[in-house]
Amino acid sequence: MPIYQTTSYVFEDADSAAAYFNLQEYGNTYSRIMNPTVAVLEERVASLEGGVGAVAFASGLAAQAAALFTLLVPGDHVVASASLYGGTTTQLKHLARKLSFDLTFVDPDDAEAWRRALRPETKALFAETIGNPGGNVLDIEAVAAVAAEAGAPLVVDNTFATPYLCRPFEHGAEIVVHSATKFLGGHGTSIGGVVVDSGRFDWSNGRYPVVADPSPAYHGLAFHETFGVYGYLMKLRAETLRDLGAAMSPFNAFLFLQGIETLPLRMERHVGNAIAVAGWLQARHGVERVRYAGLPDSRYAPLVARYLPRGAGAIFSFDIAGGRPAAVSFVEALDLFSHLANVGDAKSLVIHPASTTHRQLDDGELAAAGIGPGTIRLSIGLEDAADLLWDLDQGLVAAAASVAAAAAGGTAP
Ligand SMILES: *Cc1c(COP(=O)(O)O)cnc(C)c1O
Repeated sequence: MPIYQTTSYVFEDADSAAAYFNLQEYGNTYSRIMNPTVAVLEERVASLEGGVGAVAFASGLAAQAAALFTLLVPGDHVVASASLYGGTTTQLKHLARKLSFDLTFVDPDDAEAWRRALRPETKALFAETIGNPGGNVLDIEAVAAVAAEAGAPLVVDNTFATPYLCRPFEHGAEIVVHSATKFLGGHGTSIGGVVVDSGRFDWSNGRYPVVADPSPAYHGLAFHETFGVYGYLMKLRAETLRDLGAAMSPFNAFLFLQGIETLPLRMERHVGNAIAVAGWLQARHGVERVRYAGLPDSRYAPLVARYLPRGAGAIFSFDIAGGRPAAVSFVEALDLFSHLANVGDAKSLVIHPASTTHRQLDDGELAAAGIGPGTIRLSIGLEDAADLLWDLDQGLVAAAASVAAAAAGGTAP
C-alpha cells in the first residue's frame, strides 16, 4: 500500500469539488478528513471486526472521545465499566465535566449494576473486552442486552483482544474502538486509534436527534436518513473528525497496515507465551496471585470459553510477595522485559503500577483500583518463552534477596 503523504487533492472540476464539500459525492478533499492510505486501514479494521466501516484517529483516546462526542449532547448520561484503562477513566471524567454529561462507573462483572445505573438520558454504555489489572472479561451479551433495554449503543474497547481473539459485534456490541498503538500496530512505533461501526444501531429511535436530525453544519443534511447504515460514520468523519482535527497520519496508517498483516501469527504467539508465563508464575514461590483470565482456574474461564476461545490475550498482572520493595527489585533485575508504559508490543514489557502509573495513590486508593503494592503488570511479547522464564526467574530471585536482606536488617519488607 503506497503512502499518500499529501495534505490535499486536486479536484477534477468546480462541480465535483462542490459535490464533495456538500457530501453529495464521496471523495478526497483534505487529509484531516480522509486520506487514501488511512482509508485502506479503516476498511481493513472494519472488515476484521465485521463492521460496515471505520474512521481512524490520531490515537486511541482521540477515537474514544470522538465516538462519544458524535452521539452525546450536554445533559446526557454514560454508564462505564469501573475497571477501564487508566487513561480512559481520566478522559471520561474530564470530558464529562467539560462537556456536561453525567457519568456512572459500575462493576463490569455485574449485569444488574449496569441495569441499575440506567437513566432516561443514558445514551451510551462503555466497556473493555478484557480489562486490567483485574483481567475482567466482559459478558458482552449480558451488557448488550442492558444497552438494548436502554435504547443505547454498547461501545466496546477491543484493544486487548483484537478482532483475532474476539469480535464484539457478533455478541451485540454496536460500536468498537481500538487503540491501534497496541496489538494492531504491534511494534511500539506509532500512536493511533480507530472507531468501527456495526451499522446496526437505530439512530432514528427518537433518542439521538444529534445524529438523526438535520445538521446545521451541512445545510440541514439529516445524516441517518441520508446515509443509512453509514449515518453515524459520516457524522463521525465529516463533523467530529473535521472539527476536532485528531487525524491519523498516512505514515502511521502504513505502519498499522504492516502490523495487521501479521496480526494472526502474532496473537497466537502472544497468547501461547502468556499461557506459559502465567502458568509458570502461578507455580512459583514468591508469587502470591496471578490474574490472567486464560488460566484454567480463573473465575473468568466460562466467559473466556464463550468470547475468547482463541485465548485471553497477553496482558495480565500478578502480585509478588514482599510488597513494594520486592516489586521494585524484581522490575530492576529484568533484562529482557522492557520497563515502560505500553502494552501489546512484540517485545515483552513490565511495569510496577504503584511506583509509576498510579504512584499518586496511597495504598487504600490502590486497593480500590485493584492494585496492591506488589502488583506487577506484564505484556507478554513474541520472544522465546524459555528466555522469558529465565528473565522472570532472575527477577524473582532478586526480589527474594531484597526481602531477605530487609528482614536481616530488622526492617519489615
Ligand atoms: C492504550 C489504550 C488506550 C489509549 O490509546 P492511545 O493510543 O494511547 O491513545 C485505550 N484503551 C486501552 C485498552 C489501551 O490499552
